[in-house]
Amino acid sequence: MTSNTVDVNLDEIFSLAKRALLKHGANEENADAVAKTVTNAERDGSISHGLFRIPGYIKALQSKKVDGSAKPEIEEITPVILRCDAKNGFAPIAHQYGIKRLIKSAQKFGIAGLSIQRCHHFAALWPEVEKISEQGLVGLTSVSYTPAVAPAGGTTALFGTNPMAFAWPRPGKNPIVFDMATASMAKGEIQIAARDGHSVPLGTGLSAAGELTTDASEIDKGVLLPFGGHKGSVIALMIELLSGPLVGETFSYESKERDNGDGGPVQGGQFILAMSPEILSGKDTSDQTEKFLEKYNAIDGARIPGARRHLNRQDAGPRKVNLELINTIKGLA
Ligand code: NDP
Repeated sequence: MTSNTVDVNLDEIFSLAKRALLKHGANEENADAVAKTVTNAERDGSISHGLFRIPGYIKALQSKKVDGSAKPEIEEITPVILRCDAKNGFAPIAHQYGIKRLIKSAQKFGIAGLSIQRCHHFAALWPEVEKISEQGLVGLTSVSYTPAVAPAGGTTALFGTNPMAFAWPRPGKNPIVFDMATASMAKGEIQIAARDGHSVPLGTGLSAAGELTTDASEIDKGVLLPFGGHKGSVIALMIELLSGPLVGETFSYESKERDNGDGGPVQGGQFILAMSPEILSGKDTSDQTEKFLEKYNAIDGARIPGARRHLNRQDAGPRKVNLELINTIKGLA
């Protein structure tokens, strides 16, 4: 079974998302920031973090778990460490306030970190690191969520789907960007596969009974597994630590305990690092990077991470959106 879709322009996607957010209590600045994030996700083909997330954003506004008028505050702890109190708001507004300051510090001192607290992240992570790389810097970020992934060897969820993203600058060209869940598959992708009746590869997750299955709806009721066996499991563990205690926030299990279960994004932390290759290396690294990428691209079958999204971005035409979803959002708006 495949889902019914309808063609929607990017402008319409933005205005529909923004209207729905405004209607449910977000102020102009917050609605604008979230709607841009959602539209950019649809533009790039990150559909599990586009309009698909609007009902969840709205639930969090309706339950008042998230403050739709949040004005994040940035504190300079040291010249290279910034702390952002997201004031219980959605992540895009915290990024709008924090990343500019982070970039300035890293450009001046070579490296800078931003710890974000009291934030509700419900999006892809590439926008944060791409913004950093557009200014000639390397970006690295991670967030945890709520338990959905069992550590290697186990059948009990403890890790979130725990994504991390990395971007390397290429002046005048698209950056190298990877952005990936450390779960074998992002939760949103499982939910979409379950909704559309698609099966998933064996090893993606376990049913509620702890059995391996290819049925996405069974995995949605059970647990996901980390990507790459024990190696993905240790990276997911690192992300719990970086996005929790390192930035003064919660582990995934603590985020869940504190959550009201409304289906919207939980409150948690985010770790963001920016580094200047010029200052760290003392050189212009562009030529060296480009020579390496020439060799990379010469390998049959190899492609640069981020290239799929950057290609999608060139298409200014309408995007295919699930019909039921668009009707739900129209109802909310
Ligand atoms: P994918 O497995 O689809 O892709 C992971 C990365 O690998 C992407 O950067 C992708 O680049 C790159 N890639 C894919 N195929 C190739 C290839 N053949 N060669 C080189 N690079 C390749 O992503 P996930 O399903 O793991 O994650 C989806 C999204 O979910 C992410 O954006 C993540 O941030 C988000 N997420 C958010 C959470 C939250 O709490 N906010 C929780 C969990 C996930 P490209 O984009 O060009 O295909």
